[in-house]
Amino acid sequence: MRLILLGPPGAGKGTQAKILVEAYGIPQLSTGDILRAAIAAKTPLGLEAKAIVDRGDLVSDAVVNGIVSERLDADDCKPGFILDGFPRTIAQAEALDRMLQDKGVKLDAVIEIKADADELVRRVIQRAKESGGARADDNEEVLRKRLGVYSDQTAPLVAYYSQKGLLKAVDGMAPVDEVTAVIKAAIDQ
Ligand code: AMP
Repeated sequence: MRLILLGPPGAGKGTQAKILVEAYGIPQLSTGDILRAAIAAKTPLGLEAKAIVDRGDLVSDAVVNGIVSERLDADDCKPGFILDGFPRTIAQAEALDRMLQDKGVKLDAVIEIKADADELVRRVIQRAKESGGARADDNEEVLRKRLGVYSDQTAPLVAYYSQKGLLKAVDGMAPVDEVTAVIKAAIDQ
């Protein structure tokens, strides 16, 4: 099972990815988690990415494509994977197509988790409170920036994957277990 979870910040991609990891026994591949780990460990990648992530911009396509390409080569990704937060630009989606083509594998589905902006702001502020401010980019100002980046750079992926017949949209405003049920039904179709 090879899946992409697409959706704005706070839509529930990470939450659903973790549930699907358990259900399908395949790893979650979150570029945001990988970048945050690199930032915390102050690796060269982390030092390069920190200011960009903190202000809510996108890290360069070349950098994230490199991260994903390396991660997809790992043995645990052989049975499948759940991409959470990648691709975020058309250039990343095209790079992913090439990576998968080189491996001779195909995506099964792209799940778009839809949510309205006010609810996203509410959820992310809640996440910031619960995490004790662990994420420098979880505050209202940076979130609004990330939502703008999503509409400008990531939303075009909806049409990209729809044209390929891979897109399935789900209502991310529903309770977590209902969203999971709809995703599973869409995947198992
Ligand atoms: P996320 O945890 O997916 O919300 O990602 C947090 C931040 O990491 C984003 O706001 C970006 O700065 C960076 N990031 C994560 N994934 C990508 C990506 N695919 N392309 C560029 N930047 C990314």
